[in-house]
Amino acid sequence: MRVFGMKVRLLPSEISGSGLQFLSCYLISDTVAIDAGSLGLVGTPNQQVRVDHVFLTHSHLDHVGGLPIFLDTVVEMGGETVSLHATPWVLDVLQADIFNDRVMPDFVRISQKGPVFLNLCPMEVGTMVFADGLKITSIEVKHVVPTVAYIIDDGKDAIAIATDTAPCENLYSKLEGIPNLRALLLDCSFPVKQKELAKVSGHLTTEDFAMVAKRFSPKIEVWAIHIKPRYHEEVLSELDKLLGSSARILEAGRNYEWTTP
Ligand SMILES: [Zn+2]
Ligand SMILES: [Zn+2]
Repeated sequence: MRVFGMKVRLLPSEISGSGLQFLSCYLISDTVAIDAGSLGLVGTPNQQVRVDHVFLTHSHLDHVGGLPIFLDTVVEMGGETVSLHATPWVLDVLQADIFNDRVMPDFVRISQKGPVFLNLCPMEVGTMVFADGLKITSIEVKHVVPTVAYIIDDGKDAIAIATDTAPCENLYSKLEGIPNLRALLLDCSFPVKQKELAKVSGHLTTEDFAMVAKRFSPKIEVWAIHIKPRYHEEVLSELDKLLGSSARILEAGRNYEWTTP
């Protein structure tokens, strides 16, 4: 259970320490996970069992792949029930395609029969959920499947995580209306030369990202996330040209805190 304050960490997702991001999982103050790509693959079981809320942005494997491994580890450790928050569409996909006894055991059914370790929490887009002292609100974004971004507010400061989205005016205008927003962690998947691929796969290029960074700066720090590993160096070089010293790239494994200036 979290007490107060908000510490944000992008979990590492590969073992050689290069910092490349293959998977998505953002840990808030050690107990709330936004996405579960590398949840269950990083940290000791005792660290993992502290996570009691998981919020999913969408159903793609780089965002949910670690969830079954995480549950498999923490189920027998007697921790708090894990609340899994996602839209009904995403929860249906998980049950049909992952927790189906073929890919992984049906943890949903098992949890209903014995001690409850998994609590499915269907979430309507735009509603607010309270989790460990945080207010977490979803906003619809544009991707190839139904996807949301999240605003995480600790009562004093707020941050937003918008991974896997194409350019989305709905998101930008809603974020502009949040007075205590300090940081936006934003998709920056592709270099400019892959703008067609970005378009068909529902992601941002460095140019798209830079436009948003300039729009929000300096009041809100905009940090690049979800950089495709095969384009990592190219993306960094383009961000340097587009934004210079104000280019911000979120580093895996490092703790970040954004507070009122
Ligand atoms: Zn995706
Ligand atoms: Zn993704």
